Amino acid sequence: MSQLDIHQIPVLSDNYVYLARDRASGQTAVVDPAVVKPVLEAAERLGWTITHILNTHHHGDHVGGNLEIKAATGCTIIGPKADRDRIPGIDVEVEEGDRVALGEAMAEVFFVPGHTRGHIAYWFEESAALFCGDTLFALGCGRLFEGTPQQMWSSLSKFRKLPEDTHVYCAHEYTQANARFALSVEPENQALQDRSRAIDAARAQDRPTVPSTLGEELATNPFLRADQPGLAANVGLAGSEPVAVFAEVRRRKDNF
Ligand code: ZN
Ligand code: FE
Repeated sequence: MSQLDIHQIPVLSDNYVYLARDRASGQTAVVDPAVVKPVLEAAERLGWTITHILNTHHHGDHVGGNLEIKAATGCTIIGPKADRDRIPGIDVEVEEGDRVALGEAMAEVFFVPGHTRGHIAYWFEESAALFCGDTLFALGCGRLFEGTPQQMWSSLSKFRKLPEDTHVYCAHEYTQANARFALSVEPENQALQDRSRAIDAARAQDRPTVPSTLGEELATNPFLRADQPGLAANVGLAGSEPVAVFAEVRRRKDNF
């Protein structure tokens, strides 16, 4: 096992692309390359050699750079088996429970449908790093384009079991808008109030709010808190199953 160095690249209006380099071998993965040039330039500047692409799902702002980066570097593209027809240039198809080796660093794959029907996430336990694409965001979760609330709640439940110090490397800077919504459904949550103020301060200085930690998300992200009686009561569903509460919170966010 080995640790990763991780470099965050803001691209497009609000996407984050990540470079993750295994310290032991130097092998380097691009996670969800939305674009080409900023990724190749960042790797060049850091002196990192891209050997892999890790895709979480098929959306254009996650696979847009696949073919050109593969042509430029000869890298291997790893992506969701359930979506192999929609991942440009895919070489290796992975699913729930598979292990992905980046040199000596090892990731476990989670199948996390909901945002799309084939979405996966990569968890590098040794580095406490979760690359979760558009499934979990800082204070939010992905829209349910191709899945049900039941699927998304069970996907998020896989993340809820991970260690609290896990860093959540999500793919978008949506946190400030997410905080406004979160406060609308859990206004009495003191940790959320504090976090919201810190987010406003960070964004006022153009600083990223990503990654967060899973511990922060468990304490403040309403989409991970559908089992909390206070939140259930706030959305008019006291005593209901978490999945029903989750569905209602997601519905409210869609209309917020
Ligand atoms: Zn997406
Ligand atoms: Fe996206």
